[in-house]
Amino acid sequence: MAGYTSIWHLGSRISMRLVMKFGGTAVDSPNKVRHVAQLTKTYKKSNDIVCVVSAVRGMTDGLLSIADSVKRGDKTSIDEFVKKSAKIHFDIVQGAISDKKLRDHAQVVVRKIVSELKDVLGGIVLLGEVTPKSLDYLISFGERLSTPIVSFALQDIGIKSISLTGKEVGILTDSNFGEARPLMDTTKLRVSHKLEPMLKKGTVPVVTGFIGADQYGNITTIGRGGSDYTATIVAASIGAEEVWLWSDVDGLMTADPKIVKGAQVLREVSFAEAMEMALFGAKYMHPRALEPVIETKIPIRIRNTFNIKHAGTVITQNPGKESQKIVKSVSAIRHTALIDVSGGGMVGAPGTAAKIFDTLAKNRVNIMMISQSPSESSISMVLRKTDLDKATTTLELSLLGKVIKQINVVDDVAVIAVVGSGMRGIKGVAAKVFGAVAKHGVNVIMIAQGSSELNLAFVVNSSDCDQAVRALHREFDLARTTRKG
Ligand code: ASP
Ligand code: MG
Repeated sequence: MAGYTSIWHLGSRISMRLVMKFGGTAVDSPNKVRHVAQLTKTYKKSNDIVCVVSAVRGMTDGLLSIADSVKRGDKTSIDEFVKKSAKIHFDIVQGAISDKKLRDHAQVVVRKIVSELKDVLGGIVLLGEVTPKSLDYLISFGERLSTPIVSFALQDIGIKSISLTGKEVGILTDSNFGEARPLMDTTKLRVSHKLEPMLKKGTVPVVTGFIGADQYGNITTIGRGGSDYTATIVAASIGAEEVWLWSDVDGLMTADPKIVKGAQVLREVSFAEAMEMALFGAKYMHPRALEPVIETKIPIRIRNTFNIKHAGTVITQNPGKESQKIVKSVSAIRHTALIDVSGGGMVGAPGTAAKIFDTLAKNRVNIMMISQSPSESSISMVLRKTDLDKATTTLELSLLGKVIKQINVVDDVAVIAVVGSGMRGIKGVAAKVFGAVAKHGVNVIMIAQGSSELNLAFVVNSSDCDQAVRALHREFDLARTTRKG
């Protein structure tokens, strides 16, 4: 048996300490919040539970775009945004909490946070600028609003619960606003100190995802999609047995079901594979979210809030034998572009690559994939299409005519990634991959494989993307997989 499969299914046979994270789509209506509370109650019967909650779907994006309008000097949209946000959350309170006293209390709490949000936006308007620090403060409001509501909904069905912000629970980060890193040693101590007494009393702490605070007490955020990360930080801090990420998909899949009809949910993947899959966007998960649990070997389950009978995917240190396959998934990243820079002057000139990447990094262009031919006369890079303009402008302004002689662009490509730890040391995988692709007349533009051999990634024209993914899914027989739904 593959280790963990029997424990979770009905959830409550063996007593465990669980961290359960609910995504934004799981809390965006009164009924869903009730459902989340019931779900927590079911598992609470025999387990210690900590909940981590994301912002209501759309809130973080909304907060980011309101910050943009403030920067552009457009103040009119602010009132509207505050009103809309207030309504969304008041409606959820209204429909999700039956007890009048609790409902009134929840309303007071929400009203207070909304009025603070209004003040923050007012302050930003006065200053006329949004610093990274104030932006983090601003975007923390999504989680700060959703989390207490879930906690009240739990109390409403008889579960003792307390809601806490990331700061209150003790998540200490550096001051790299927007992508802050938790300082794990202190964090672990603080979080366990805070949560242990609550768990002992049978209380369910409900913690805001995505948020921490730096050593000066400023609110920080830990990167988009960071609630998963919060869940794993908390889990590592309290020595949880498992982390469950409740979202709206059944689990990690062999391919995007929109491209491949027979795509299957994967039953088990290793941390290393999940890291690759996260990078390649199978279900968007911050790869960093895996760090705290890799160290502590705490398994993660990805489960569907709306399909709780489905076992989901478990991400663990060592998947069982039957789920060790050569290739597990084929994913594609679209909306990417390729830049090729070349020039005879690059040959044998140490520091060329550093200069190119440094220049791009300073201009906040993120490079997804790199390859250089051994002749050293050209370097190819893949990046998001949205960064293309910035990238070429930067390269032209700072390096063209100096280090590099020519810049070529293919502006609509897709990266295809084949992931599976069984590829390591197995001969013929690349031949199989490229053979399958070639059979369909697809041209491969660029290739990269790290020496970890966990993934093989290559670039094709965007128009060839779906065909390549389907061909590989078929070639490795991924539709015939481990589990029935
Ligand atoms: N609300 C944050 C975001 O949308 C964090 C999360 O949802 O995990 O990125
Ligand atoms: Mg989210």
